[in-house]
Amino acid sequence: MSQSLAKVAVTSVSFSKNLQLRDELKLNFPNSHFNESGSSLDGSDLIQFIADAELVIAGTEKFDAEVVNSLKTIRMISKYGVGLDNIDQDFAKKKGIQIGWRGGVNKTSVAEQVMCFLIGQARNLFSSSYQLKRGEWVKNGGSLLSGKRIGIVGFGNIGEEVARMLAPFNCKICVTDILDKTKEANDHGAEFTKNFWACVEGADFVTLHVPLTESTRHLVNQRFLKRMKSSAFLVNTSRGGVVNQDDLLAALNSSEIAGAAIDVYENEPFTDGHYLKSDRLICTPHIGGNAAEAVLAMGRSAIENLKIFEGIE
Ligand code: NAD
Repeated sequence: MSQSLAKVAVTSVSFSKNLQLRDELKLNFPNSHFNESGSSLDGSDLIQFIADAELVIAGTEKFDAEVVNSLKTIRMISKYGVGLDNIDQDFAKKKGIQIGWRGGVNKTSVAEQVMCFLIGQARNLFSSSYQLKRGEWVKNGGSLLSGKRIGIVGFGNIGEEVARMLAPFNCKICVTDILDKTKEANDHGAEFTKNFWACVEGADFVTLHVPLTESTRHLVNQRFLKRMKSSAFLVNTSRGGVVNQDDLLAALNSSEIAGAAIDVYENEPFTDGHYLKSDRLICTPHIGGNAAEAVLAMGRSAIENLKIFEGIE
């Protein structure tokens, strides 16, 4: 069998916009429909869009218990991307809905952005660009990234990829994770510690690579930011909820830390110009995993999950 006639609802905006992925999906699943709205669906709009579909390709839309409970015909939610924090997995499991997922599909894309954030912060590339665009010629080339101390919080697929990319910079890399990652850290010349604070306090840059869970929600708060060096920078490409945004803004405004680079927000899309205006803040609209190659890899992985589930060769 090379085709399934099951109805597929593609809720992911990014997948839906990609003509190549649409064609590839339709080869095996001709009864697919796509989110053409250009924006993320939620609540009753999401339920209505999925209606009587059996399979879903989901991005970051919120599949909470209420939504999952309303999906009477769904057999699988296949994830486009890697973060599963938007899906109530326990509830889905109770309802007999399978979750299709593969880790690491966009790790290179995210890690490259982290490298850009690290170098950009070290060398004032973004802040001096903001200044020059305002007509201010301020020559301040910052400091080298090379040789600095980097704290990596969460050492899974992306954290490890960042350590791999940092190798030529001869940084001192300190890694922390809830799992013992001594071997993985050593493979990259990094030091592993279970002592989370040891990793945060001494670092010139802290980069976050944990999933959003109950234990990581607002992991970065006033206390965390106070314990960072005042000359240190924070990078968050994980999930917005890992950082308390109000506390971060306060820390930036009071120079408690030197700067932050964030790709993810507690509520997305996030366009609060007042919040984003600080020159100490580098901000991007959740594009870490969105390099063209990663988009294809995420989409193909989501299709593959459906094919395996439906027994398609
Ligand atoms: P992963 O599952 O491979 O790694 C996560 C690591 O965090 C694991 O090693 C896990 O043990 C560790 N961890 C979990 N809870 C922890 C805690 N409380 N303290 C310390 N460590 C903890 O995930 P990944 O693929 O590396 O993704 C990391 C994050 O990046 C996720 O939040 C994911 O949603 C996000 N992400 C963002 C983008 C983007 O576009 N910005 C793209 C992909 C992934």
